[in-house]
Amino acid sequence: MPFVKKTPRPDRSRKKKEPVWISPVRRIERVAAAGRVCAIAFMDGPCMLPAMPDRFRGKPLTLVLAETLERYGAKGTFAVVGDTSGNYPDRPGRAGSPAWNGAAWDHFPDFGQDKLGGVVHCPELVSRLLAGGHEIASHGYAHIPFGWSPPLYGPRRYQPDLEGVMTDLRRLHKVMEDGWRYPMRLSSPPRGVDNIKGGFSSYDAYALMGYQYLAAGFDGAGRAPMASREAEVGAVWQPMERLLLEDPDAFRGQIIFQKDGFNMARRSPIAGGLDKQLQLLTDHGYQVVTVSELLEQAPFRDVPADSGHGRAARRLLGLGWCPAFQDNALRPEAALTRGELAMMAFGWETVRRRVELVRSGRAPFRDMGPRDPYAAAAALAVETGAMAAPGGRFRPGAPVSPVELAQFCSTRLGRTPPLGGWESISHGEFFLLIVELLGG
Ligand SMILES: [Zn+2]
Repeated sequence: MPFVKKTPRPDRSRKKKEPVWISPVRRIERVAAAGRVCAIAFMDGPCMLPAMPDRFRGKPLTLVLAETLERYGAKGTFAVVGDTSGNYPDRPGRAGSPAWNGAAWDHFPDFGQDKLGGVVHCPELVSRLLAGGHEIASHGYAHIPFGWSPPLYGPRRYQPDLEGVMTDLRRLHKVMEDGWRYPMRLSSPPRGVDNIKGGFSSYDAYALMGYQYLAAGFDGAGRAPMASREAEVGAVWQPMERLLLEDPDAFRGQIIFQKDGFNMARRSPIAGGLDKQLQLLTDHGYQVVTVSELLEQAPFRDVPADSGHGRAARRLLGLGWCPAFQDNALRPEAALTRGELAMMAFGWETVRRRVELVRSGRAPFRDMGPRDPYAAAAALAVETGAMAAPGGRFRPGAPVSPVELAQFCSTRLGRTPPLGGWESISHGEFFLLIVELLGG
């Protein structure tokens, strides 16, 4: 059964746009914060090796970062790995290249030094981070990319399938649960690869884990090597200074990407540049909080939390609905389609079912293939009587009609909205209506 496109005809006059879907997992890159508040995500740690060059008398790099943050009352989000010592046999790749720390696998903090990095080998650093009020997020137990992608060349290894990804994620989750009773809520895929063999993506894996997708809107330049350490340290804070000069609100709601480890030239410019970054942010009135705290203040990308639509969508989020698209935008003006309605209401409940559908390869409806992101939610919506699919057609791209909405609300919520005379209802109007039906 071929994948059935929901858009009737491609518009060739415009640039092809990637479709975005309503999703339980939201990619958190930047949020619509009300004030000057932002977050910093530190990737690939923890790291017991000292900063390079070491100007901190041998202190572990992660501890240097934590102490620097704390001098400014700032909280970091550390996306950690578990242990990369199982990623052998391997050989070191070319220095200064993306394979600097291993030709086939990643090794943190460095090739042959796996025992000085990761949560498993650095429990005291994890305890220290938590004691400082910082957040721990998952970056995969062994930092193995979820699937193949073009930048993964030659001998580079990746996870064979969704099962491999899940085993790895559950392993790190369990380490944090068992060791610290700490439930991780955010995750970032190793090397940013989303694709998982078999028709899946990181969004499926994170939905199964109950995670949100940690991303970043501003790259802190901690990875690419430059001519000198001085140039690298400058690259950490100078672009920030320029941006703040142009627009003091440039970092409002932003997540800044940093490296808790070495760049491809085996230097750690972040150890020198973080202080300057925090000084700039503090001088401009910013508060640096964890990503979870940032989300608490402003859950969505495009709509402020204190607006009518923002408040209603947050309420739905709290009730286990999926009001946002996978890019964390609400798009309150967009017309609500049938597929989106099913996904908003049944998204979290149908995470496993979607995996089964994709694996079975069987189309649930005549106009929806098994890989359609809304297929499982649509199937459950029809089974529960909340929606109908006459003639075996679900029509996922069709706007929701007043009669369909009434049927949906009376079945799903036990309450019936007044029948309007509209032709389509927007996402924003829908949020307000549902919240009103639920009693404010
Ligand atoms: Zn990484």
